This record gives sequence, C-alpha cells and structure tokens, in this order.
Amino acid sequence: MVDVKKAVFRIRTLRIISLITFFLLFNAVVLGFQPLPLLLPVLQSMGNPAKTVGDAFAVLQYMLWEPTFPWLPLASFFIVAVLLGRMLCGWVCPFGFVQEVLGYVKRKHREISPRSHKDLIYLKYGILGATLLVSIAISATVVMGIGQSYKNALGVFAQAPFNALSPHDTLFAMLPNATMTAFSAEALFQDILGTLTAIPPLFWIRLVILALVLVFAVYTPRSFCRYLCPVGAAMALLNHFSLLGLKRDVVHCTKESCRRCVEVCPMKVPILDLPWEKFTHPECIYCLECVDACSTRAIKPKFP
Ligand code: SF4
Ligand code: SF4
Repeated sequence: MVDVKKAVFRIRTLRIISLITFFLLFNAVVLGFQPLPLLLPVLQSMGNPAKTVGDAFAVLQYMLWEPTFPWLPLASFFIVAVLLGRMLCGWVCPFGFVQEVLGYVKRKHREISPRSHKDLIYLKYGILGATLLVSIAISATVVMGIGQSYKNALGVFAQAPFNALSPHDTLFAMLPNATMTAFSAEALFQDILGTLTAIPPLFWIRLVILALVLVFAVYTPRSFCRYLCPVGAAMALLNHFSLLGLKRDVVHCTKESCRRCVEVCPMKVPILDLPWEKFTHPECIYCLECVDACSTRAIKPKFP
C-alpha cells in the first residue's frame, strides 16, 4: 500500500510543486503580470509572448551580436552558480520541467551505458563552445568593420545561433507565435494550403528537433539536460565554485550493499566515488532524489 504521508512529504513532491509554480510565474503575462527585469540561467525563450523573466544565455547571444559586453547575463551565471550551483536546473527551469513531466510517461526508462554516458555529456560543451564561438566572432567582425557581411552570411543563425534551432525556443516561442498567427482573423480568410507551403523549411527542421528531444526525454529522463543543454554545460563548469553541495555521512552510509542513491540519480552522478565531506559534481542539479532515496538519511545538502 502507498504510504500517503511519506509520499506527500517527499522532497520530490516539493520539487514538482516548485517546477510547476515557476513555470506558471515565468509565463504569467497571460495572467496580467508584468515582465520583471531579471535574467536567469534557465531555458526560457526570449520570443515567448507570455514571459516574465529573461533567459541569460539568449540575452548573452543578443548582446554579443549587437555587440555589447554581456556583463548582465555573465553576472547572472556567476551569481547563481556561486550561490546555488545548478539548483535552478532541478527546481526552476521551464524546459527542465517539461522533461520532468515526460519522464513520467514511461515507468521503465532506457539505460544509457556508462561509457556512452561519459562520451555524450561532452556534447553539451561542444554546443556551448560552438555558440560562443559564432557569437564572439560576430562581435569581432563588427569591431573590424565587416560585421554586416558576416551577419548576412549567417542569416537566421546570426542573432542567437543556439536559439535559432533550440527545442525550448521552438516550444515556448515559435509554436505559440505560429499558432497565434494561424488563428488571427486575416489568416483564417487565407488559403490554408497556400499558407502551409509558404512555411520555411527551417520551421519543419525545428519541429523535428523538438520532437526528437521530447521523445528522447520520455525514454531517458532529463536527457536534454544531461547531454545537449549549453546552459547546463556553463553551469556545470561553474558548479565547482558552488557554496551549495551535498555531504554523505560515512558512518550511516552502507555503500556497496545499497547504492540506492546512485540508482535514482537522474544525472548519473557517481555519488559514492565522490568526497564524502562535500561534493559539487558538475552534473548535479541538486534535485535531492538521492537524499529522498537514502533509507539511512546519510546524504544531506551542505551550505556553504
Ligand atoms: S540543463 Fe538546461 S534545460 Fe536542463 S534544467 Fe538546466 S537549463 Fe534547463
Ligand atoms: S547527486 Fe543527488 S542531488 Fe545531485 S543530481 Fe544526483 S540525485 Fe540529484
């Protein structure tokens, strides 16, 4: 029988409430809220018509495109990383929330082998590096006076190279905007077939990428966070400096005979191989699933 009291007081319940609350708050313009002058290192599309907060990584790309030194988004990344590490990924990020929900679709998930996992986590650093390279190159060419031809050559990828294909931007901005346009009074009087054929190929490419990412998240929880998200990659690099961490009480931990914490970790953090006094692993999103799962209460958050 399900222990209702235990289920209600699980940290996961709190975390899901937090993810839902922030998802609603971040999209609260539809409820009459005003946008806030706040940038956060989470995936919240700047093209989203209902957004109340800004996406630090998108703003960083726009500022490099202008070009202006992106001190505000950089400050957001550093301040959040030092105070909370990757905690916003576990408790706040709207695209993390979407993946979390999809993770409940299937009871049994597909296991990625430790070797493939080790290789795949580098993909997100590649995406981060490529995005920064293109954006910084744009700034450099503008300073050299040849920026316009470089921007023209890059086309839709110039202003925000990652967002031009990112599934979160497709879900939170492209699709809502396209739906609003499709149902506008003028569009309803137009020839539907003609409108469909006029849709650029990039629209369909973005839809396919979104579909693949969402299906991947159904089979492998948080797969986009683990392997593809450049914001997660930047925060993973900075997580090392986080005041927030986890500690494992070696007196209570039964280690080899248990390994429950390692099994439940959605980010595959090798908890039992890390220093017990305090660990701030790059992949840890402070979801505290390991704290919930430990029957001897050996794992606890540690701050600072
Ligand atoms: S890794 Fe990216 S998508 Fe996942 S929660 Fe963090 S910012 Fe959001
Ligand atoms: S180590 Fe614990 S808190 Fe960190 S991601 Fe894994 S389960 Fe979550």
